[in-house]
Amino acid sequence: MPFTLGRGVGAATAAAALVLPLALATPASANPKPAQLINSVVASAVKQHLQKFQQIANANGGNRAAGSPGHDASRDYVAGVLKKAGYKVTLQQFDFPFFSENSPAVLQRTAPSPKTYSAEDFTIMTYSGSGDVTAAVQNVDLVLPPGAPNSSSSGCEAADFAGFTAGSIALMQRGTCSFQVKAENAQAAGAAGAIIFNEGQQDRTDLLNGTLGEPSVTIPVVGTTFAAGQELSAAGTVARLKTDTTSAVKTTHNVIADSRWGDPKKVVHLGAHLDSVPEGPGINDNGSGSAAILEVARTLGKIPTRNKLRFSFWSAEEFGLLGAEHYVANLSAQELANTKLYLNFDMVGSPNYALKIYDGDDSDGEGAPAGPAGSDQIEKLFEKYFDALRQKHVGTDFDGRSDYGPFMDAGIPSGGLFTGAEGIKTAEEQKMFGGTAGQAYDSCYHQACDDISNINDKALALNTGAIATAAVTYAYATKLPGEGAPATARTAAASVASTPGTEAPNHELTR
Ligand SMILES: [Zn+2]
Repeated sequence: MPFTLGRGVGAATAAAALVLPLALATPASANPKPAQLINSVVASAVKQHLQKFQQIANANGGNRAAGSPGHDASRDYVAGVLKKAGYKVTLQQFDFPFFSENSPAVLQRTAPSPKTYSAEDFTIMTYSGSGDVTAAVQNVDLVLPPGAPNSSSSGCEAADFAGFTAGSIALMQRGTCSFQVKAENAQAAGAAGAIIFNEGQQDRTDLLNGTLGEPSVTIPVVGTTFAAGQELSAAGTVARLKTDTTSAVKTTHNVIADSRWGDPKKVVHLGAHLDSVPEGPGINDNGSGSAAILEVARTLGKIPTRNKLRFSFWSAEEFGLLGAEHYVANLSAQELANTKLYLNFDMVGSPNYALKIYDGDDSDGEGAPAGPAGSDQIEKLFEKYFDALRQKHVGTDFDGRSDYGPFMDAGIPSGGLFTGAEGIKTAEEQKMFGGTAGQAYDSCYHQACDDISNINDKALALNTGAIATAAVTYAYATKLPGEGAPATARTAAASVASTPGTEAPNHELTR
């Protein structure tokens, strides 16, 4: 739809309506008051950053994935805006395992009779190599009919490949060792490709959606259902296996911007992942959160604050929160102690949105427990912001699917906003937010259609106001959330599942 965002839609209205919920220290006398500051962050400027991200994707093969030119250009754009706004900008470099499937994989039986397998029968293993081979299928130490779970150790030992004919496709069965070990052993034995099928009992019969964990093989590797694997194990089977992937260790950067102002021992840290998936431009996921915090940073850059603001734009979130994990893992004990809170914004403009606030106090009683002490206060700040606008909101579990995971694991009070991904909007949420119940919050999630048209302007504006409010409130707060909480809080962190690949809606197996 055509874009006409007035400046009053979100931030300005919010600030006008908002009785600032926390005691705010007034900034130095020559500076604007908090409400004026919040007002000066406008959603139309956020939308301009999003348009820039779209242009960058258009010019770089349609995506902004970590390790790709589209991310590098996004990094440079964000770093340029931040430098101009007065920040000290650091590019934090790290290596990570990149994977993309460049065209759909093919699995066909060519003998004894032709059959083409569908996406319900097989799927590529993440970190598969590339190739197009037609060869005899050779069984590797299969247990058929299947026994108990892990009775198969197919492909786990080099000895399983005694008598293996180089150039054949290795047919292996799930069980005992990782898919990576099976695929590496097959490649070492001269296999031209590998098919790993589900083991065949209890919950181990459906399509095997797996990962090799890292780019360690060059041959094509796919997973299949038990039924497809059993069928391919028939004597005299010849198959065609084709995969077209990029699987390699690549280098990327987090962009970290430090304000020149404020107490370096009291860091208020806002973060959003800047990378998209390789499948699309990532405008809602997560151009939206990136653009929102970028505009908040730009607006506040030249204004002295009591506490120090830090803005981070994570890379390789889509490969398993890798940028944020790298950052937290490399923080010194002193830097960790200085980080008083972390606010995360990952998808804040979903087209069929709900306004979700991370459930810092576990009042929803769902999934992960309450966040580190102070997370409850962060949740309450966002609640008060929306309440002041008479705007409904809901909680959302800290399920470990975004960059707050490593911060919470380190005991840092955390919070943030989310408008929904592949999940389905409820009837109750339709009453609260409009839109369409029974449909995904973002039906373009992780797809090519996550483009500039995949943004709800009202949600983006409301959340921009909320982010500006939190940034300004905490920039001037004399007491930050969780301050004065028992010192044990940082070591007794709530356990948040931050396992690699957690953003993928279908969890990938490793073994
Ligand atoms: Zn995301």
